[in-house]
Amino acid sequence: MKKASSILLQASQERRKHLLETEAKTVCMEYGIPVTRFKLAKDEAQAVEFAEEIGYPVVLKIVSPDLIHKSDVGGVIVNLKDAKDVQSAYKQIMNNVKKHKPDAKIVGMLVQEMAPQSTEVIVGATKDPQFGPTLMFGLGGIFVEILKDVTFRIAPVTEDEAREMITAVKAYPVLTGYRNTPPADIEAIVEILLNTSRLVMEHQEIKELDLNPIMVYEKGAKTVDARIILE
Ligand code: ADP
Ligand code: MG
Repeated sequence: MKKASSILLQASQERRKHLLETEAKTVCMEYGIPVTRFKLAKDEAQAVEFAEEIGYPVVLKIVSPDLIHKSDVGGVIVNLKDAKDVQSAYKQIMNNVKKHKPDAKIVGMLVQEMAPQSTEVIVGATKDPQFGPTLMFGLGGIFVEILKDVTFRIAPVTEDEAREMITAVKAYPVLTGYRNTPPADIEAIVEILLNTSRLVMEHQEIKELDLNPIMVYEKGAKTVDARIILE
Protein backbone atom coordinates (compact mmCIF):
# COMPACT_ATOMS: atom_id res chain seq x y z
CA MET A 1 0.00 0.00 0.00
CA LYS A 2 1.11 3.56 -0.62
CA LYS A 3 2.58 5.35 2.41
CA ALA A 4 -0.15 8.02 2.47
CA SER A 5 -2.91 5.42 2.45
CA SER A 6 -1.38 3.40 5.27
CA ILE A 7 -0.76 6.51 7.42
CA LEU A 8 -4.37 7.65 6.98
CA LEU A 9 -5.69 4.14 7.63
CA GLN A 10 -3.63 3.68 10.77
CA ALA A 11 -4.74 7.02 12.22
CA SER A 12 -8.40 6.21 11.65
CA GLN A 13 -7.97 2.73 13.13
CA GLU A 14 -6.49 4.36 16.21
CA ARG A 15 -9.53 6.68 16.19
CA ARG A 16 -7.30 9.73 15.95
CA LYS A 17 -8.90 12.90 14.59
CA HIS A 18 -5.70 14.46 13.29
CA LEU A 19 -2.34 13.38 11.95
CA LEU A 20 0.95 14.18 13.61
CA GLU A 21 3.02 16.77 11.72
CA THR A 22 5.45 14.01 10.69
CA GLU A 23 2.58 11.98 9.24
CA ALA A 24 0.91 14.94 7.53
CA LYS A 25 4.22 15.95 5.92
CA THR A 26 4.92 12.39 4.77
CA VAL A 27 1.49 12.34 3.09
CA CYS A 28 2.28 15.73 1.47
CA MET A 29 5.67 14.50 0.23
CA GLU A 30 4.05 11.54 -1.48
CA TYR A 31 1.91 14.00 -3.42
CA GLY A 32 4.89 16.12 -4.45
CA ILE A 33 4.19 18.95 -2.00
CA PRO A 34 7.55 20.36 -0.85
CA VAL A 35 8.12 20.35 2.94
CA THR A 36 11.02 21.25 5.22
CA ARG A 37 13.40 18.34 5.84
CA PHE A 38 12.69 16.64 9.15
CA LYS A 39 13.60 13.73 11.45
CA LEU A 40 11.82 12.51 14.54
CA ALA A 41 14.12 12.25 17.59
CA LYS A 42 13.40 10.02 20.57
CA ASP A 43 15.67 11.84 23.02
CA GLU A 44 17.93 14.86 23.44
CA ALA A 45 21.09 13.15 22.15
CA GLN A 46 19.30 12.00 19.03
CA ALA A 47 17.91 15.51 18.49
CA VAL A 48 21.49 16.82 18.40
CA GLU A 49 22.57 14.01 16.08
CA PHE A 50 19.73 14.79 13.65
CA ALA A 51 20.38 18.54 13.84
CA GLU A 52 23.99 17.96 12.74
CA GLU A 53 22.75 15.76 9.93
CA ILE A 54 20.16 18.27 8.70
CA GLY A 55 22.47 21.26 9.19
CA TYR A 56 21.99 24.41 11.31
CA PRO A 57 19.91 26.42 11.86
CA VAL A 58 17.14 24.01 12.85
CA VAL A 59 13.73 24.13 14.51
CA LEU A 60 12.53 21.83 17.31
CA LYS A 61 8.84 20.95 17.64
CA ILE A 62 6.95 18.75 20.03
CA VAL A 63 5.16 15.78 18.45
CA SER A 64 2.07 14.70 20.36
CA PRO A 65 -1.39 13.47 19.36
CA ASP A 66 -2.75 15.63 22.21
CA LEU A 67 -1.22 18.92 21.01
CA ILE A 68 -2.64 20.18 17.73
CA HIS A 69 -1.49 23.79 18.23
CA LYS A 70 2.14 23.30 19.13
CA SER A 71 3.28 26.88 19.69
CA ASP A 72 0.34 27.57 22.04
CA VAL A 73 2.03 25.34 24.62
CA GLY A 74 5.59 26.52 23.94
CA GLY A 75 6.19 23.48 21.77
CA VAL A 76 8.10 25.18 18.93
CA ILE A 77 11.53 26.84 19.12
CA VAL A 78 13.10 28.17 15.92
CA ASN A 79 16.54 29.29 14.81
CA LEU A 80 18.76 26.89 16.81
CA LYS A 81 22.33 27.47 15.70
CA ASP A 82 24.38 24.75 17.40
CA ALA A 83 24.28 21.64 19.61
CA LYS A 84 24.02 23.72 22.78
CA ASP A 85 20.98 25.57 21.43
CA VAL A 86 19.34 22.25 20.55
CA GLN A 87 19.99 20.80 24.02
CA SER A 88 18.54 23.77 25.84
CA ALA A 89 15.56 24.09 23.47
CA TYR A 90 14.83 20.39 23.97
CA LYS A 91 14.68 20.83 27.75
CA GLN A 92 12.70 24.05 27.42
CA ILE A 93 10.04 22.48 25.19
CA MET A 94 9.69 19.45 27.49
CA ASN A 95 9.23 21.79 30.47
CA ASN A 96 6.71 23.97 28.64
CA VAL A 97 4.64 20.97 27.64
CA LYS A 98 4.77 19.49 31.14
CA LYS A 99 3.52 22.78 32.54
CA HIS A 100 0.70 23.33 30.00
CA LYS A 101 -0.47 19.77 29.45
CA PRO A 102 1.12 17.32 31.92
CA ASP A 103 -0.85 14.32 30.60
CA ALA A 104 0.01 14.85 26.90
CA LYS A 105 1.39 11.73 25.25
CA ILE A 106 4.79 12.59 23.74
CA VAL A 107 5.77 10.77 20.55
CA GLY A 108 9.10 12.54 20.16
CA MET A 109 10.79 15.75 19.10
CA LEU A 110 10.74 16.86 15.50
CA VAL A 111 14.07 18.24 14.27
CA GLN A 112 13.50 20.32 11.20
CA GLU A 113 15.39 22.35 8.66
CA MET A 114 14.74 26.06 9.30
CA ALA A 115 13.14 27.62 6.23
CA PRO A 116 14.48 31.14 5.58
CA GLN A 117 11.88 33.89 6.09
CA SER A 118 10.05 34.83 2.90
CA THR A 119 6.58 35.64 1.60
CA GLU A 120 4.14 33.32 3.36
CA VAL A 121 1.11 31.78 1.70
CA ILE A 122 -1.55 29.39 2.95
CA VAL A 123 -3.17 26.52 1.11
CA GLY A 124 -6.13 24.83 2.74
CA ALA A 125 -8.81 22.29 1.97
CA THR A 126 -12.17 21.68 3.60
CA LYS A 127 -15.12 19.54 2.72
CA ASP A 128 -18.23 21.33 1.62
CA PRO A 129 -21.34 19.29 2.55
CA GLN A 130 -22.73 19.85 -0.94
CA PHE A 131 -19.70 20.17 -3.24
CA GLY A 132 -17.13 17.98 -1.48
CA PRO A 133 -13.42 18.85 -1.25
CA THR A 134 -12.82 22.57 -1.68
CA LEU A 135 -9.47 24.37 -1.87
CA MET A 136 -8.52 27.67 -0.30
CA PHE A 137 -5.63 30.01 -1.07
CA GLY A 138 -4.39 33.17 0.61
CA LEU A 139 -1.31 35.07 1.73
CA GLY A 140 -0.12 34.46 5.28
CA GLY A 141 -0.48 36.63 8.37
CA ILE A 142 -2.81 39.63 8.32
CA PHE A 143 -4.06 38.93 4.78
CA VAL A 144 -5.87 35.78 5.89
CA GLU A 145 -6.39 36.43 9.57
CA ILE A 146 -7.63 40.02 9.49
CA LEU A 147 -8.51 40.87 5.90
CA LYS A 148 -9.94 37.40 5.04
CA ASP A 149 -8.39 37.87 1.62
CA VAL A 150 -8.80 34.30 0.34
CA THR A 151 -10.10 32.45 -2.71
CA PHE A 152 -11.96 29.14 -2.89
CA ARG A 153 -12.46 26.62 -5.72
CA ILE A 154 -14.18 23.27 -5.71
CA ALA A 155 -11.75 20.37 -6.25
CA PRO A 156 -10.51 19.00 -8.54
CA VAL A 157 -9.00 22.25 -9.79
CA THR A 158 -7.48 22.64 -13.24
CA GLU A 159 -4.19 24.41 -13.81
CA ASP A 160 -6.08 27.52 -15.01
CA GLU A 161 -8.28 27.50 -11.93
CA ALA A 162 -5.24 27.13 -9.66
CA ARG A 163 -3.63 30.13 -11.34
CA GLU A 164 -6.85 32.11 -10.95
CA MET A 165 -7.00 31.32 -7.24
CA ILE A 166 -3.63 33.03 -6.90
CA THR A 167 -4.22 36.05 -9.12
CA ALA A 168 -7.71 36.70 -7.65
CA VAL A 169 -6.57 37.55 -4.11
CA LYS A 170 -6.25 41.27 -3.44
CA ALA A 171 -2.75 40.77 -2.10
CA TYR A 172 -1.58 39.24 -5.41
CA PRO A 173 0.76 42.18 -6.19
CA VAL A 174 2.78 41.18 -3.11
CA LEU A 175 3.71 38.01 -5.00
CA THR A 176 4.78 39.75 -8.19
CA GLY A 177 7.52 41.70 -6.40
CA TYR A 178 7.74 45.19 -4.94
CA ARG A 179 10.54 47.53 -3.86
CA ASN A 180 13.41 45.27 -2.80
CA THR A 181 11.31 42.11 -2.68
CA PRO A 182 11.80 39.86 -5.71
CA PRO A 183 8.83 38.12 -7.36
CA ALA A 184 7.70 34.86 -5.80
CA ASP A 185 7.66 31.56 -7.68
CA ILE A 186 3.98 31.50 -8.76
CA GLU A 187 4.46 28.23 -10.65
CA ALA A 188 5.57 26.53 -7.43
CA ILE A 189 2.29 27.63 -5.78
CA VAL A 190 0.25 26.44 -8.79
CA GLU A 191 1.89 23.05 -8.45
CA ILE A 192 1.15 22.87 -4.71
CA LEU A 193 -2.52 23.70 -5.38
CA LEU A 194 -2.76 21.01 -8.07
CA ASN A 195 -1.07 18.41 -5.87
CA THR A 196 -3.26 19.32 -2.89
CA SER A 197 -6.30 18.98 -5.12
CA ARG A 198 -5.18 15.50 -6.17
CA LEU A 199 -4.51 14.54 -2.55
CA VAL A 200 -7.94 15.55 -1.22
CA MET A 201 -9.73 14.00 -4.21
CA GLU A 202 -7.95 10.68 -3.76
CA HIS A 203 -8.38 10.71 0.03
CA GLN A 204 -11.95 11.66 0.83
CA GLU A 205 -11.32 10.65 4.45
CA ILE A 206 -9.50 13.99 4.83
CA LYS A 207 -11.90 16.47 6.41
CA GLU A 208 -9.52 19.42 6.61
CA LEU A 209 -6.01 20.18 5.42
CA ASP A 210 -3.88 23.16 6.28
CA LEU A 211 -0.50 24.04 4.81
CA ASN A 212 0.22 27.06 6.96
CA PRO A 213 2.58 28.66 6.35
CA ILE A 214 4.26 27.87 3.05
CA MET A 215 7.36 29.98 2.43
CA VAL A 216 7.57 31.02 -1.21
CA TYR A 217 10.94 31.94 -2.69
CA GLU A 218 12.13 33.32 -6.00
CA LYS A 219 12.63 29.71 -6.90
CA GLY A 220 10.58 27.05 -5.16
CA ALA A 221 8.51 26.92 -1.99
CA LYS A 222 8.53 25.02 1.29
CA THR A 223 5.71 23.96 3.60
CA VAL A 224 6.71 24.71 7.18
CA ASP A 225 3.67 23.31 8.98
CA ALA A 226 1.06 20.81 7.77
CA ARG A 227 -2.13 19.77 9.52
CA ILE A 228 -4.54 17.08 8.36
CA ILE A 229 -7.84 16.45 10.15
CA LEU A 230 -9.83 13.29 9.49
CA GLU A 231 -13.55 12.68 9.12
P1 ADP B 1 1.74 25.42 15.30
O1 ADP B 1 1.30 24.02 15.61
O2 ADP B 1 1.71 26.27 16.53
O3 ADP B 1 0.97 26.02 14.17
P2 ADP B 1 4.11 25.62 13.57
O4 ADP B 1 4.76 24.37 13.14
O5 ADP B 1 3.26 26.33 12.56
O6 ADP B 1 3.27 25.30 14.91
O7 ADP B 1 5.23 26.62 14.11
C1 ADP B 1 4.90 27.91 14.54
C2 ADP B 1 5.62 28.96 13.71
O8 ADP B 1 7.03 28.77 13.79
C3 ADP B 1 5.31 28.90 12.20
O9 ADP B 1 4.14 29.59 11.88
C4 ADP B 1 6.57 29.53 11.62
O10 ADP B 1 6.50 30.93 11.68
C5 ADP B 1 7.65 29.06 12.56
N1 ADP B 1 8.29 27.83 12.03
C6 ADP B 1 7.92 26.56 12.31
N2 ADP B 1 8.68 25.66 11.65
C7 ADP B 1 9.56 26.37 10.92
C8 ADP B 1 10.61 26.03 10.00
N3 ADP B 1 10.93 24.75 9.72
N4 ADP B 1 11.29 27.04 9.42
C9 ADP B 1 11.00 28.32 9.69
N5 ADP B 1 10.03 28.72 10.53
C10 ADP B 1 9.31 27.77 11.15
MG1 MG C 1 1.21 26.37 12.13
